[in-house]
Amino acid sequence: MFENLTDKLEKAFHILKGHGRITEVNVADTLKEVRRALLDADVNFKIAKEFTNTVKEKALGQKVLTSLQPGQLLVKIVRDEMAALMGGQASDINLQGAPAVILIAGLQGSGKTTFSAKLASYIKRKKGRNPMLVAADVYRPAAIDQLKVLGQQINVPVFSIPENMNPVEIAQKGIEEAKRLGHNVVIIDTAGRLSIDEQMMREIAEIHKTVKPSETLFVVDAMTGQDAVNTAKAFNDVLDYDGVVLTKLDGDTRGGAALSIRATVNKPIKFVGTGEKVDALDVFHPDRMADRILGMGDVVSLVERAQEQYNEEEARKLNKKIATNKFDFEDFYNQIQQIKKMGNVKDLMGMLPGVNKMIKDFDIDENAFKHVEAIILSMTPQERRNPEILNGSRKKRIALGSGRDITEVNRLIKQFEDMKKIMRMMQSGGPRGLAGMMRG
Ligand code: GDP
Repeated sequence: MFENLTDKLEKAFHILKGHGRITEVNVADTLKEVRRALLDADVNFKIAKEFTNTVKEKALGQKVLTSLQPGQLLVKIVRDEMAALMGGQASDINLQGAPAVILIAGLQGSGKTTFSAKLASYIKRKKGRNPMLVAADVYRPAAIDQLKVLGQQINVPVFSIPENMNPVEIAQKGIEEAKRLGHNVVIIDTAGRLSIDEQMMREIAEIHKTVKPSETLFVVDAMTGQDAVNTAKAFNDVLDYDGVVLTKLDGDTRGGAALSIRATVNKPIKFVGTGEKVDALDVFHPDRMADRILGMGDVVSLVERAQEQYNEEEARKLNKKIATNKFDFEDFYNQIQQIKKMGNVKDLMGMLPGVNKMIKDFDIDENAFKHVEAIILSMTPQERRNPEILNGSRKKRIALGSGRDITEVNRLIKQFEDMKKIMRMMQSGGPRGLAGMMRG
């Protein structure tokens, strides 16, 4: 996420490092580079200019030049201004109404259908509500099936009327059905087009007028940069929506949309999509995002994710196994599944300060554990529970079964043993799984 921008900003601040004394000239040089980095990130020219002007004013006001650590102070000002540019505080979703109606709008391919399901899952898990999805994308027949498949995955019912081509009617009937079945939140996925056209805008405006949603969210693909900002503006003129959802942030190396949208439409970014899976959704926190952009990581979010996966009971059991040296390959495998549930591994590592840059060229993805898993799954249950019986012939069989090299099997077993030792060493009270290690 945002690797290019982070890289360029770090280079900009590097200007200050080379100098014994910081002068107005090299602060100006740094800010010029910051501005260039923002422009390269596809931030609108006017916004980039205003941003650096504000930072300059604040820097002079806070006497950066005479402070003890001028470089750090300047980074802090940039960080705070960046958070402010993205809206300052995180803003929550409005779920008032009986049922609360949430209307989802955006162009085709922006990730509306995926987001609708992610939001339903989020509302269920985090808000303890009982949502229903309504498939009102009548122009893309596959969208209805797609929503149904996603609905099944998260156990949320999907309302649709396949032969009906009138999205206003579908939305109304969906809300009635939700009332009848006792759902207290209705999420309506609407039709998009490849680009803005009048009919689509008329249609979405009509749905909006009829269903009077508690919350209208505009979904946009972050990777489209300035186009995302322009589309956000066009939809806002028609819908006056409540918040923006930026999808595909996992693939966005530049960050222009995240930085420009708020300043352009004056609406908060409420959620960001960070992957194709239904749980790849984050509440947008401008301050944490600013930290990430500046390469300071986002440890708060990382800990939150670890806590979500943290199960006291499981942790206690695991703790006992480690203490009695009974941690085996089955536990190891389960720990990997836990980490995978926390999200994309590269994304997770990117939340650690300074790591984002280090791993930007590595190809780490959700398949990072694939080989390890294959090896563990090629063991017999007995072998998994008693790793000490793994002799030469067993290892050879496992290598064949997993399609990995014997050296890789040996390496994994060695790593596993080393890890066991470290875990026992680290066990100084308090339940700690791998997720617990991140937590504690
Ligand atoms: P719609 O036409 O607006 O309903 O868009 P879809 O929900 O069908 O999404 C279009 C494509 O983008 C699909 O292949 C999704 O899997 C993918 N997608 C959606 N959100 C994200 C995201 O946050 N990250 C990534 N990497 N892909 C996403």
